[in-house]
Amino acid sequence: MTAEEQARADIVEVGRRLWERGYVASNDGNISVRLDEHRLITTPKSVSKGFMTPDMMVITDLDGRKIAGQRDPSSELKMHLEVYRNRPDARAVVHAHPPTATGFAVAGIPLDRPVLAEVITTLGSIPIAEYATPSTEELPAAVRKYVKAHDGLLLANHGALAVGPDVMSAYYRMETIEHFAKISLVARTLGREHLLSRDEVERLQGLRGMYGIASPAPICAEDSIQATAGQLDCQVLQAPDSRERLVPSNVESVRNISAPAVAMGSSAPSEAEIRLTYRELTALIEDALRALK
Ligand SMILES: [Zn+2]
Repeated sequence: MTAEEQARADIVEVGRRLWERGYVASNDGNISVRLDEHRLITTPKSVSKGFMTPDMMVITDLDGRKIAGQRDPSSELKMHLEVYRNRPDARAVVHAHPPTATGFAVAGIPLDRPVLAEVITTLGSIPIAEYATPSTEELPAAVRKYVKAHDGLLLANHGALAVGPDVMSAYYRMETIEHFAKISLVARTLGREHLLSRDEVERLQGLRGMYGIASPAPICAEDSIQATAGQLDCQVLQAPDSRERLVPSNVESVRNISAPAVAMGSSAPSEAEIRLTYRELTALIEDALRALK
């Protein structure tokens, strides 16, 4: 199978999964793969992503001009082109409207609280790109601000975008975004959210290299939460300093197990911090790595 044939088959499979999981309705969503320095292959407009065949795909240049294919690319391809222009490492982009993550995007609530170790190690923060009219040049401009430093984005009042080194990885990131949104919704409905401290976040980020996860960007220095007009080169995470919590919590249920093997600089466990054992953390990271493969 040539790389192009493989890309066609993978795009069909990813489309099927997006539809099956209810991440798209009707003809929503689009998927693209960078074939080489000059070409990408993408889903056609006006078809359900759940029922595509490999021959339906469109090949374009990196300005979105059609090179081959019976059909036309989606007007949302502009957003994909913006990702490829800004991220030489990106080989695939998946865009969908998964309902829970899109609900956060509609509510204007970014997924930027550090609560799940595997999300911190893989995606980090998932910000919201400002509202832009779909299919216009506004959308790439909104994406441009965040795409250098993030592999997963919410699009205000629209949906979500995931970037990866191959199309299955980009798809799995979309799954992670939606799964994280569901868990966040449940925790907030229950009225409590124990946030990992900045120290814990930094420790988890330190493990990315060890497990071969290319981190999209470091966490922004405290209080540098930008009024940046340009591109962000770091991620905003609402990690509290040591004992502070964004959401007040009772501490009786907080696990308080020390994890010396994990610590790169070990600090004494404080009562309000969530501590994971080395085994728990390893299991979480292994799950995340499996998901990325
Ligand atoms: Zn869309």
